[in-house]
Amino acid sequence: MKIHEYQGKEILRQFGVPTPRGMQCISVDEAVIAAQQLGGTAWVVKAQIHAGGRGKGGGVKVTRSLEEVRSVAQQILGMHLVTHQTGKEGQVVRRLLVEEGAQIVKEYYLGMVIDRSRQRVVLLASSEGGMEVEEVAAHTPEKIHKVWIDPVAGLRDAEADTVAQNIGIPTAAIAQARTVLQGLYRAFVEKDAMLAEINPLVLLADGRVLALDAKFNFDSNALYRHPEIVAYRDLDEEDPAEIEASKFDLSYISLDGDIGCLVNGAGLAMATMDIIKLYGGNPANFLDVGGGASKEKVTEAFKLMLKNPNLKAILVNIFGGIMKCDVIAEGVVAAAREVHLSVPLVVRLEGTNVELGKKILVESGLPIISGNDMADAAQKVVAAARGR
Ligand code: ADP
Ligand code: MG
Repeated sequence: MKIHEYQGKEILRQFGVPTPRGMQCISVDEAVIAAQQLGGTAWVVKAQIHAGGRGKGGGVKVTRSLEEVRSVAQQILGMHLVTHQTGKEGQVVRRLLVEEGAQIVKEYYLGMVIDRSRQRVVLLASSEGGMEVEEVAAHTPEKIHKVWIDPVAGLRDAEADTVAQNIGIPTAAIAQARTVLQGLYRAFVEKDAMLAEINPLVLLADGRVLALDAKFNFDSNALYRHPEIVAYRDLDEEDPAEIEASKFDLSYISLDGDIGCLVNGAGLAMATMDIIKLYGGNPANFLDVGGGASKEKVTEAFKLMLKNPNLKAILVNIFGGIMKCDVIAEGVVAAAREVHLSVPLVVRLEGTNVELGKKILVESGLPIISGNDMADAAQKVVAAARGR
């Protein structure tokens, strides 16, 4: 689960990481009042969306008068902000963060993710922070320093200080950097994050170190123990199809291809997407209907897939283990009737009562294309999608 920058900064402050003073707002008037209350002579108006790269897309602007705050807030609120993380339609800006402008001397990068192969949280740090960090990772990976953190000891003082030195933080600010690094690590662990990023961490003209941006992604399987994180959820930022799917207990992820997939079991769903790709197609979604694929669930799954304007064909790939194939077949037929299926449907069934299941599909009179095995079904659905 993702959150906004202003919420990420609230968390960072709880862990002792200094951030600029700022206020979130949802109207132009509120933005001007926020700037007035913050005082000073420079304010940064920042679009709050669940995507990075806002600065490059025109969603972060420095202003030097209250009139400018007003005009910039007017410009950013409601805009379709397009960044490398939003897709080409962009994301509508509904919320702003107005914060005090910082006098930046140098921008650094700090990030944390889980390195599964080493079973540790890895700290990534670089002297080359700011808006070009993707370029640094691609072209000069040696400028990214890594520390794999011992889960028992945590991030040790010496490790933190060495990283701070390696990325060029001046000696006078090493102690502050240690607070930031250890605070970020504690926030990551205690809040069950999957990703935490401060980009940029900046050195100010007066020698202080400050987190100018904050990005978090939390493990949704751990949200049950973090009501305070759940309270941060902003449904406006999430994919409507995925929200709808979660209501019916379907694991659904939108993708940008044109072949809908309806599968029982996450492993089989991954394999189905792979084999579609192998035969030259592109999946429109990941969809796991789970072990108990009832008629209702299958119907909702069809409805979800059909909302996608790019959809050209559907592949149903079911292994009847606990579920029997005839029950699934009845569900598929009933669902296909109810939603007035407008694209070719390929069905591959295997497992308990498979012959009975296939018979139900044939006798339904619906134009269902039967796949004999996964390869056959994938080839047929790719051909069906091409044919339209
Ligand atoms: P994004 O990563 O989405 O582009 P950031 O919050 O990192 O957004 O802002 C982009 C850039 O804007 C930063 O790298 C920094 O140079 C500048 N910036 C952001 N916040 C401030 C601030 N409070 N004061 C001065 N400059 C800022
Ligand atoms: Mg940033």
